Amino acid sequence: MPIFLALAVWIGAALCGQTPRGDISSPAPLLIDYRPILGLFRAEGSPDGRTEIALRSWTEAGRSRLLLADPATLHTRVTDGAAPPSLSWVDVEKVFSANGSRAPYFRLRDAARATREKTANSGVASWRAAQRGVWLSVDLCPSKKPLDRWIFTELTGDRRSPLPVFLDVSGRWIADHGDDFAWLIALESAGHMDVAWVGHGEEHPYDPRVPYTRTFDLTPGLDFSAEVFKTEKRLIAAGRSPSVWYRFPGLISSPALVDTLLSWGLIPLGSGAWLNKNESPRDGDVVLVHANGNEERGLRLLERLAKDRREALAAGRWSWLGQSDF
Ligand SMILES: [Zn+2]
Repeated sequence: MPIFLALAVWIGAALCGQTPRGDISSPAPLLIDYRPILGLFRAEGSPDGRTEIALRSWTEAGRSRLLLADPATLHTRVTDGAAPPSLSWVDVEKVFSANGSRAPYFRLRDAARATREKTANSGVASWRAAQRGVWLSVDLCPSKKPLDRWIFTELTGDRRSPLPVFLDVSGRWIADHGDDFAWLIALESAGHMDVAWVGHGEEHPYDPRVPYTRTFDLTPGLDFSAEVFKTEKRLIAAGRSPSVWYRFPGLISSPALVDTLLSWGLIPLGSGAWLNKNESPRDGDVVLVHANGNEERGLRLLERLAKDRREALAAGRWSWLGQSDF
């Protein structure tokens, strides 16, 4: 077992209090009856009575488990617990809107819903942040080439705090790049990155010979729930918490797919500036690059962006934005 893999498996196991399970990139046969739910979760003995949204439930080694999301911070976590009573989205929203202001999670959901008719780049592509900067999103579509580790090393190298980043992983990429996946997890576990793990399709089908209306997640006969949930299970099996985001492969979607994602508690992550398509990033954009070995030019443009912003970053006038900046 390569050293990073061994380290990441050990760290994942230590964090979860579980026995290492072997191959970190394999699917998760031990997650039984994995399904979307919607309810409220209040941690027992929580002094501030903090309430989270329960979005998934499953059984693992005889224990009932839940995936929770905090609508104020967008932070997600996995915990022990039985599925709470089922609620509607209207009921859930009421709980978090008691004081008149709505949590960011619900405002982002509304913004994404407003783009549902767009067939390309639906979802949250840019946002008015409290401070200047951009959100960095890195797609890991299926690829035969290795991860471009250098860009992560370069961007995290001289930072004092973790680099916030959306890592948009396809299940196929994880399956084919166990060492690279473990390397990213090790970088996260060592505090160099603050990762929002984003599903990017399990198989991420793409057929360049047909129109966009018949490929990616619009591929006829595709099991969309498998595209979403299988990758979430892979992340959980690796000790990660899937975020509340989903990146549509090719940024291609339909109103029905957007509605389905929202019903599962997920928000489509659009792109405000796909660097390799010569879209220049403005403050508040979600910047898109690929680090799967297929888009070196985009990464070079990202490298240049980082160099251009280095002074402003050091002076606190600009930043790589994180989930708490929504
Ligand atoms: Zn992709």
